[in-house]
Amino acid sequence: YQAKRSGGHFLLHEARCEPVDPQMLSLTAELRSAIDRDELMLFLQPIVKCDTRQLVGAECLVRWRHPRRGLLPPGDFVPRAERSGLIVPLSDWVMREALAIAASLQGAGHPLRLSVNVSRRAMVEPGFADAVSRYLAAHSLPVDRLLLEITEETLMLDEPGSRAVMQQLRHAGIGVAIDDFGTGYSQLAYLKSLPVGQIKIDKSFVRDVTTSPTDLAIVRALVELAHALGIQVVAEGVEQEDQAQVLESLGCDLLQGYLIGRPMPFDAFRAWIEKTERSYLPAS
Ligand code: C2E
Ligand code: MG
Ligand code: MG
Ligand code: MG
Repeated sequence: YQAKRSGGHFLLHEARCEPVDPQMLSLTAELRSAIDRDELMLFLQPIVKCDTRQLVGAECLVRWRHPRRGLLPPGDFVPRAERSGLIVPLSDWVMREALAIAASLQGAGHPLRLSVNVSRRAMVEPGFADAVSRYLAAHSLPVDRLLLEITEETLMLDEPGSRAVMQQLRHAGIGVAIDDFGTGYSQLAYLKSLPVGQIKIDKSFVRDVTTSPTDLAIVRALVELAHALGIQVVAEGVEQEDQAQVLESLGCDLLQGYLIGRPMPFDAFRAWIEKTERSYLPAS
């Protein structure tokens, strides 16, 4: 994983597979130097317990501070990075940065669990699980300070490859969450055979959970299924208090969404934690 990154062979090789599209080539070239120029940034979005609203973790969401185009969301460059192979060094940067942040938070007395999105392409790169273990060890972080988010497609599109990596991660004690749960192929059988510790119910089900009996029924069934299998449930995209109330009544474990907090840069996240903690202290 490491050696390939520094050697650059992988990137050169992958670049040959690119279709010749000037716009794409220029953005890809820019992204390659963005990693070295420190133009990428991780935003952190709080994840809290559903019943007490206690902070337990945060999801790391990448942004690109593009010199001319401004702050770009991942949708503008992650899919291109996946097609060009740049997702491998990008993911490596995200993982290192996330663990540096986890270590810094730990040092400040906030032992939070950080969730990191991992694309299929980066996950099946040889040595992935070992690299993650090494980075954790380099910061003396316990494995439960990290959770890897993958999508159902990752498991389905490349069965043997990603499943083998899942087993290596299990062996290393590193937890895996299924992101955007319910929107993919939903071949639920994999839940029985793979080490999945958490599912994240997609925001498309959360949005209408208070008004649509169908969405309510789906979320209730997903929570029951997950709990029967010993899997923790996060609701994503929670924007309103009444959604949070319904999700709590359904037994959802964790909440994430604008209601709790927006994705924010590290300093703002630190300030958010301190403000939230103060609001729990008795007024003096
Ligand atoms: P995701 O992992 O499902 O992340 C949740 C997305 O929902 C984030 O969008 C977040 O900003 C947004 N969100 C959070 N709360 C709310 C809410 O209450 N309402 C609404 N409407 N949206 C909410 P973002 O940051 O634009 O990320 C989009 C996707 O890009 C992510 O979806 C993830 O699949 C991908 N991504 C982000 N960071 C990385 C990364 O470091 N590596 C890889 N491979 N993919 C990433
Ligand atoms: Mg995610
Ligand atoms: Mg999601
Ligand atoms: Mg998504």
